[in-house]
Amino acid sequence: MSRRKPSGKHRRQRPAKAAVKLAKAYRCGSCISEVRGIRRDDLGVDHINVVHDAECPVLNGVLPDGPDAFRAAARAGVSMLAVRVGGAE
Ligand SMILES: [Zn+2]
Repeated sequence: MSRRKPSGKHRRQRPAKAAVKLAKAYRCGSCISEVRGIRRDDLGVDHINVVHDAECPVLNGVLPDGPDAFRAAARAGVSMLAVRVGGAE
């Protein structure tokens, strides 16, 4: 039995395996996008940070990001997804 006292710090949770698979499978249909990490929020929802080219119509809201996310989910074999469009750097 462990005698360690709880630290009181909130332990960072790992993203779900499905989110990791989806992040690896995500490709923007309009630019050379790059996935830069997955963050799990306080509600346990995983957010995949996708960085698009500055001129990308997905980034600029001209095209929706949903179709690329659904294609990534299909490629990854996962049934859930969460994609956030990030800015170019
Ligand atoms: Zn893009």
